[in-house]
Amino acid sequence: MTAHIIDGAAIAKLLRQEIGEKVRSRGVTTPGLAVVLVGENPASEVYVRNKGRAAEEVGMKSWTQRLPAETTQKQLLDHIGKLNADPNVHGILVQLPLPKQIDEQAVIAAIDPAKDVDGFHPVNVGALASGLPGFVPCTPQGCMILIREAVKVLTKREDMDGYNALVIGRSNIVGKPMFQLLLAANCTVTVAHSKTKDLPGKCREADIVVAAIGKPQFVKGDWIKAGAIVIDVGINRIPAPTSTDPNKTRLVGDVDFASASQVAGAITPVPGGVGPMTIACLLGNTLEGPTKPIM
Ligand code: NDP
Repeated sequence: MTAHIIDGAAIAKLLRQEIGEKVRSRGVTTPGLAVVLVGENPASEVYVRNKGRAAEEVGMKSWTQRLPAETTQKQLLDHIGKLNADPNVHGILVQLPLPKQIDEQAVIAAIDPAKDVDGFHPVNVGALASGLPGFVPCTPQGCMILIREAVKVLTKREDMDGYNALVIGRSNIVGKPMFQLLLAANCTVTVAHSKTKDLPGKCREADIVVAAIGKPQFVKGDWIKAGAIVIDVGINRIPAPTSTDPNKTRLVGDVDFASASQVAGAITPVPGGVGPMTIACLLGNTLEGPTKPIM
């Protein structure tokens, strides 16, 4: 069996087109996204550039503010205070990770929850856990859209009631909100982490696997139940095997795509799976505000 490849890039493109049309048709106030980057992390630079560009492409205003690596916590909090007060700014995103001298939780808590387009503020975390409207974190939101798409392709069903879902990883950014969203969608959800026993066995019971671990090609094909939906959140850079240049790298996910795609019913590629959906959902959050119901 060869899995259906869930084309996140194509689905994200459609979403961005829809968002662009809404931005143009609403017209009165152009949504504005402020992205704050502290320091010079090369991966963060790429993410921030892509987010700013995507916002402009759908007709939003976007400001990318680069602060030096030695920025103090007080300076960053003052900066966020100004963005909170600026009526042109509808969404504020502080790119993580932050330099060591800055307490990430204090920064997240300083963002106005009504502008917290990442959905990391405790108010939005609580709203998600309680089933109330708020900002839903972008990556898990994107994963849900891809899972729904896969369920539709594989079964023609609109729901995922009763599916056994396994989330590998329990970060605040991916694993925990993913758990909430799958639970709200009536799945029976298991969350695995580094202390989980018999991860391959737990995987083999899952109709849906979401891998958010940060370890290249960690989840093997023989862990996957035949026909399962596999969502690979991981973004890992490894040496490119066919190149003679030792500096040449390629991106892979947390799932061993070659073996898993022989067993799964549907699977996301890396790149071109979850990554583009994260950005599309960020734009959606900026446009719609903290009103999104649980998906
Ligand atoms: P974190 O490092 O915050 O969390 C990783 C999780 O994996 C932890 O909960 C950890 O467990 C768990 N883990 C580590 N080793 C194992 C193991 N051997 N078995 C089971 N679980 C394990 O990562 P993030 O959630 O931030 O990101 C995960 C991946 O997703 C990364 O590759 C990241 O780059 C990518 N990512 C991609 C995005 C996208 O848009 N596509 C967006 C965000 C992240 P424990 O808690 O016990 O330590």
